Amino acid sequence: MQEISSMKEAVSKVRENILSACKRAGRDPKDVTLVAVSKTMPVSAIREAMSYGLTEFGENRPQELRDKQAEIKEALRWHMIGALQTNKLKYVVGKTVLIHSVDSLHLAEAIEAESEKRGVVSEILLEINIAQEASKHGIAPEELEGLVRKLAAFPHLKIRGLMTVAPYTEIPEENRPYFQKMKQLVVDINSKNIDNVYMDMLSMGMTGDYEIAVEEGATLVRVGTGIFGHRAYPPKE
Ligand SMILES: *Cc1c(COP(=O)(O)O)cnc(C)c1O
Repeated sequence: MQEISSMKEAVSKVRENILSACKRAGRDPKDVTLVAVSKTMPVSAIREAMSYGLTEFGENRPQELRDKQAEIKEALRWHMIGALQTNKLKYVVGKTVLIHSVDSLHLAEAIEAESEKRGVVSEILLEINIAQEASKHGIAPEELEGLVRKLAAFPHLKIRGLMTVAPYTEIPEENRPYFQKMKQLVVDINSKNIDNVYMDMLSMGMTGDYEIAVEEGATLVRVGTGIFGHRAYPPKE
C-alpha cells in the first residue's frame, strides 16, 4: 500500500478506488456507501473526516458510540458494526441507522423488544461467517434461511441484507470467492419471496479488500485504517 500523508488524501484515494471498482463492474457508484470506521479514533478525527464530506460512521462498541454522540451534535449516520450484548442495546437502538452485526435469534429478539419499547423499527443486517472461521462472529450460511423466516414477522425489525467480515489476508483477491458467495446468499433469499423480506444491502469489504467487495456487489464498505490510519490499540470485542 502506498504511503498516504493526510486524511484528506486518504479519503479521496478511497473514493477514487470505489469509483474505479464500480466502473470495472459496471455498477452505479450511488449504490455504494462508504462507512468510515471510526472505532478507537478521537472525536477530532471524526470532525476532520466530516470536513471532507463523510457522513456515515461505523463504531463497534456501544459505550464509545454513546460518548461520541454526546460530543457530536451534527446529524451523522451512525452504523453499529461490532459484536453486541443485549444489555448494551439501549445505546444502539434508535441511535444508529443500521445494525450490521446481528448474529443470533436471541440478539434479534432483544433488538425487537428494545425497538418496540422505543417505538422505532430497527434496520438490521445478518452477519454471516462466510469462511466458517472459528474466531469470527456470524451465522453459518446454512442457518440463514431458517433465521430469516423466524425474523420476517418481527414488527420492529427490518432485515435489509447481509454483512460479513472476510478473512484477513495480504492478498485481497483471495476473498473474492467469499464475496461472491455472500452475493449469492442474498440472491437466493430474495428468490424465495419470503413475506416482508427483500434484501437490498450487502455490507462487505474493509481496508484490505473493499475494491474486490465492490466489484462483487457490496453496497456498504467499512473502511477504517484506509481513512484514519492505524489504530493505536486493538479494539476490544
Ligand atoms: C474495524 C472494523 C472494520 C474496519 O477495518 P479496517 O481494516 O481498519 O478498514 C470493518 N468492519 C468491522 C466489523 C470492523 O470491526
